[in-house]
Amino acid sequence: MPELPEVEVVRLGLVPVVSGARVESVEILDPRSLKRHRGPPEDFRHRLEGAEFDRPLRRGKFLWIPLRGTTQALVCHLGMSGQVLLGEEASDFGSHLRIRLGLVPATGKPYVVGFVDQRIFGSLAVDDLVDGDGAGGWGSDDPRVPYSVTHIARDPLDEAFDLDAVSAKVRGKNTEIKRVLLDQGVISGIGNIYADEALWATQLHYRYPTNRLSKKTFALLIHNVKEVLMKALAEGGTSFDQQYVNVNGKSGYFSHSLMAYGQQGSPCAKCGSILVREPWMNRSSHRCPRCQRVPRVG
Ligand SMILES: [Zn+2]
Repeated sequence: MPELPEVEVVRLGLVPVVSGARVESVEILDPRSLKRHRGPPEDFRHRLEGAEFDRPLRRGKFLWIPLRGTTQALVCHLGMSGQVLLGEEASDFGSHLRIRLGLVPATGKPYVVGFVDQRIFGSLAVDDLVDGDGAGGWGSDDPRVPYSVTHIARDPLDEAFDLDAVSAKVRGKNTEIKRVLLDQGVISGIGNIYADEALWATQLHYRYPTNRLSKKTFALLIHNVKEVLMKALAEGGTSFDQQYVNVNGKSGYFSHSLMAYGQQGSPCAKCGSILVREPWMNRSSHRCPRCQRVPRVG
């Protein structure tokens, strides 16, 4: 499942090619990929055709491309298996191609952007840009965000991420730390993989009570979240499920350096104990039984 680093890799791949390009054609092969668009497929096409793209932006796992000179943006959510691929005009993106945009760049040859999504949990939509909470998205100083993204919190890599405010909010909650890490309304951009990696680095159990966390430990955890996200970004994102490829069709390689996620049965790099995988909220958590002890009750 694509997480923040994968989405950022897609954004970085799109920036040089779509910024300033004009949408010449919109082909909707599967309207289920427009389920988050408020309006019929024809409305989606109408709003995009002839529009000119600005520089792509991101908040958490949401990516959007403002339509130049308007108050609208094309919003992309990759869901479980979504991919954004670039190709030559006549290229074939395979049987999971859902939406195809023909683009004409400011200079150079026309090309095609394909939204490919095997499981159709992802989506494209044209949405209104509204005033957010001050700083907009990653990638521009435009303070607006798409309406559908206003409930998404800042991610820890965002310059506008307010550690003190988030720390107070999290430590005031009566819940478990991993639930908060995955709550996109509190901290965005962290999925199961990076949560397990950061908890392992901080030597915290995934069920550690948030109201017992010290300010210092929470700050260390966020530091480790940033480290693991930046490492993944540098390596092009994870590719553990073989679904994710970046805009050039290449897989990321971060899965080679995971320390906890998917490492059950291997020794912990800190202490040598054998890592375990445990069921947690319809998915799983990976931890070291010695470094990340079960929290005491009460
Ligand atoms: Zn250990």
